[in-house]
Amino acid sequence: MRERLPKETYKALKKTIDEGATLDLKIAEVVANAMKDWAIERGATHYTHWFQPMTGMTAEKHDSFISPTSDGRVIMEFSGKELIKGESDASSFPSGGLRATFEARGYTAWDCTSPAFLKEDANGITLYIPTAFCSYTGDALDKKTPLLRSMEAISKQALRILRLFGNTTTKKVITTVGAEQEYFLVDKKLYEKRKDLIFTGRTLFGALPPKGQEKEDHYYGSIKERVAAFMQELDIELWKLGVPAKTKHNEVAPAQFEIAPIFDTTNVAADHNQLIMETLKKVADRHGFACLLHEKPFAGVNGSGKHNNWSLSTDDGQNLLKPGRTPHENIQFLLFLTAIIKAVDLHADLLRVSAANPGNDHRLGANEAPPAIISIFLGDQLTEILEQIETGCDVCSKEREILEIGVSTLPQMRKDTTDRNRTSPFAFTGNKFEFRMVPSSASISDPNVITNTIVADVLCEMADELEQAEDFDKAVRKLLRRTIREHKRVIFNGNGYSNEWIEEAARRGLPNIASTVEAIPALITEKAINLFERHKVLSKTELCSRFEILLEDYINTITIEAKTMLLMAKRQILPVGIKFSAQVAESISKIKNIGDFDVSAQVELLEEVTKTLASFKRNLNNLEEAAHKASNMEADSYKKACYYRDVVCAEMKKLREDADHLETIIDEEIWPMPTYSDLLFQL
Ligand code: ADP
Ligand code: MG
Repeated sequence: MRERLPKETYKALKKTIDEGATLDLKIAEVVANAMKDWAIERGATHYTHWFQPMTGMTAEKHDSFISPTSDGRVIMEFSGKELIKGESDASSFPSGGLRATFEARGYTAWDCTSPAFLKEDANGITLYIPTAFCSYTGDALDKKTPLLRSMEAISKQALRILRLFGNTTTKKVITTVGAEQEYFLVDKKLYEKRKDLIFTGRTLFGALPPKGQEKEDHYYGSIKERVAAFMQELDIELWKLGVPAKTKHNEVAPAQFEIAPIFDTTNVAADHNQLIMETLKKVADRHGFACLLHEKPFAGVNGSGKHNNWSLSTDDGQNLLKPGRTPHENIQFLLFLTAIIKAVDLHADLLRVSAANPGNDHRLGANEAPPAIISIFLGDQLTEILEQIETGCDVCSKEREILEIGVSTLPQMRKDTTDRNRTSPFAFTGNKFEFRMVPSSASISDPNVITNTIVADVLCEMADELEQAEDFDKAVRKLLRRTIREHKRVIFNGNGYSNEWIEEAARRGLPNIASTVEAIPALITEKAINLFERHKVLSKTELCSRFEILLEDYINTITIEAKTMLLMAKRQILPVGIKFSAQVAESISKIKNIGDFDVSAQVELLEEVTKTLASFKRNLNNLEEAAHKASNMEADSYKKACYYRDVVCAEMKKLREDADHLETIIDEEIWPMPTYSDLLFQL
């Protein structure tokens, strides 16, 4: 930008990017022209407004730069207006009732805070312009708009706190995010033989292999050549797109891996995560793999998540979640820290829904992922300091002393690998929080919209109180103490996977929201609506639309899974079961024809197969009936979703049990699909 733009234009654009000043159309005109020249020099012929509808995927519509001239030729053009605003038919994107289908228009608006980039594929080279997507009435139809709004909200409130601490120079507070992405790779040829993987992204049937992850020999293990070649190309493709891919390694489950980029401003990180997911799939395909982003592709094996590393920093580069050297700095740090603790405690239900999707229902609360209970890990050191501050209040005469000792001895926190707790859903890791419940296949926007907004709200309350205080130091200390006392129940440093924690959390009154359907209504409580409207992040209408979309998505996902199961059960597993039992029966009669031999092994097997097959067929009928009833149900989407969860999912589980049993007794030569052993151990 600095190279290509006139100095004044560059300055004006930077001001918009850094401080949110509105952008003049004249400036946009110059920027558009420079962008076009830059893109065309690199071979681009088209541009696209790139946006993120509420499907959680990305969307694009390509236009070429050509423009006719009066003498019948064409020139390459790109105007400021085309850069800033696009119009597209929005009727086929989910809106959750936000937009009547007759008002199909949707608008895309340039997000100049996220860098444009070039993408090369079979389409040629295209200039991608990150945009927000909204309706004619200005309602957000996407994941980016609320994210940008939430970033403004938290910046505004955090600035008020900084001013109280005497900071007059910071202009903006930025939320930073680094999202670690987990994924599975399976051989493409095997993948293509599994209808469940193709249609639903996860295996709906499959018995556990003799070896899983119990030996933990895959985690951080040496990377196999074929996978290494894939990872190398992945890095290069991501770097070309401007995504700073940094870390890669084997994950816990066989065939599971992780990639993490260097952190960035939240909306850029969200854009980059979308690009990472897309590029993973594309590059995997080139290497004869299929990349699975589903949260739980294999039952009984670790699932995938996304670790959303989140922090707050000032535009002049100060990380506000980094414990400082002096007591003064530490008080500021402690105030931000306790604000987050309070926000997480007050709005655990919202954080929970931000990590809810049908895939994650198989993961959260299972013994290998964060529990469905939201709690915070702080580590012993910090917890102790908070305890000291809290109890300091009881020994009033010694108050100052205790406080100052407590605070000033706060050592420089190291990013210490031994002080880790992998079982906590929301863990402090030295200078940032790591939210570990985020679904691997979803956009990271929702969890960040929620985190930003709930923290903004608490900071706002704190600023309101402190701005009125006569003695600031005293008021801060009082506030810290009270906040710790009222919200320390959400802090838990123990093993989050244990049963004791579930009981302990219940005693503490922490919500344990087990499923997506149960989590969704948190979006439209009065508390949530007030919160989001107060900070102008989402209106009531926008929240209601998201509520509807989440329920619809749940219903659609389970419907597709049930249909796929029925298809596989009827056309693959049942025929093979019949064929195999006939083979065994034939063998029995053939042997008996020859003489009086012992056929008890065959008879026993035949008994087991036919019995299981009969149960399998009964369960198949039951699932079919449940799915039929569900799709014809006259009820609101919440009731419908409950039925899918309680009845359809339960039938699916029963059908699977029989099928998985059949898999272990039927001749592997005729089993109609690749097994877990094939999928997980053939890379
Ligand atoms: P882990 O040890 O949890 O696997 P990694 O080093 O793989 O951690 O990933 C940590 C992620 O956190 C990286 O994406 C990194 O860039 C990011 N990160 C580091 N500092 C910050 C910060 N201040 N704000 C947000 N993210 C950060
Ligand atoms: Mg991590």
